[in-house]
Amino acid sequence: MKPAPFEYHAPATLQEALELINTLENYKILAGGQSLMPMMNFRFVMPDHVIDINQIAELSRIEQRGEKLFIGAMTRQHDIHISELVRSTAPIIAQAYERVSHRQIRNRGTYGGSLCHLDPSSEQPCFTAALDGVIHVANAQRTRQVPMSEWTSMYMTPALNANELMLGVELTPWKGRHGYAFEEYSRRHGDYAVVAVAALLAVNAQGSIDRVRLVLSGTSAAPCVLTQLQDAIIGQTRDAALALVAQHIDQLQDVMEDAHYTSQYRRHLAKTLCQRALVRAFETAH
Ligand SMILES: Cc1cc2nc3c(=O)[nH]c(=O)nc-3n(C[C@H](O)[C@H](O)[C@H](O)COP(=O)(O)OP(=O)(O)OC[C@H]3O[C@@H](n4cnc5c(N)ncnc54)[C@H](O)[C@@H]3O)c2cc1C
Repeated sequence: MKPAPFEYHAPATLQEALELINTLENYKILAGGQSLMPMMNFRFVMPDHVIDINQIAELSRIEQRGEKLFIGAMTRQHDIHISELVRSTAPIIAQAYERVSHRQIRNRGTYGGSLCHLDPSSEQPCFTAALDGVIHVANAQRTRQVPMSEWTSMYMTPALNANELMLGVELTPWKGRHGYAFEEYSRRHGDYAVVAVAALLAVNAQGSIDRVRLVLSGTSAAPCVLTQLQDAIIGQTRDAALALVAQHIDQLQDVMEDAHYTSQYRRHLAKTLCQRALVRAFETAH
């Protein structure tokens, strides 16, 4: 299949891009093209204009901003995967990228493209939620910030207003000694996860949990932060926490299903992966 005819634009600056999206109708932003191009070739989307933002250098950066880590929307997934800064401040990200597609796709695919495509099974919204990501967006007039908890407006649809462009994400890496683990099940290496889990954990000298973050993807349109479970396992030891994981996830409501995987199966995966992630996070926490 070939895409329907469209006009191609390649703005050299952010301002130029924002002016284009402010004036053009029925446009699509082109980042890495790894999801957009197949959708255009299948004619699931037929934009009149494609705005290629690959030349805008300022959208591609990984930098420390005080206690935060800022990653620009156009930063290639491969560059994040191998970044020393990312590995030293938020190693769970590098671990998650080991499971994201194949090297060739990560070479072109961008972090921003993934968060805008917003596949519910993607690893990238999952670790973004685990690290309290705040998404920076802009239109020609102003910029605004959207917490990851408000980023999914509906299935595969980010909370981007018309004429807005995503600029990047500010993440809050955990300080001090902590454990982490990213676990997922996918049918083949490089496929999207069926279900994935991001776990962050701080353990005290007595071996009980001081702080924990558990996020699932593949169970709902938005990454699911297991807040009640997190509250329940604070102060618990490893084995007590694992039992609480089983109890809580068995009760998880509204787990999505499709033609391939039932909600019961996804819930089963969530429970097993969450327990596995906690065990691994305990190991790294020590
Ligand atoms: C074979 C295959 C396997 C894959 N496996 C995985 C996997 O295991 N895990 C995973 O997470 N992903 C996987 N992907 C998807 C991959 O990560 C894509 O790169 C990603 O989903 C989209 O990123 P992109 O930069 O290519 O965006 P594009 O395809 O260029 O754009 C995607 C969407 O986001 C919009 N967009 C992009 N950037 C912006 C912006 N800055 N502001 C506003 N809108 C924007 C576009 O208009 C489009 O609607 C896979 C892809 C393929 C082809």
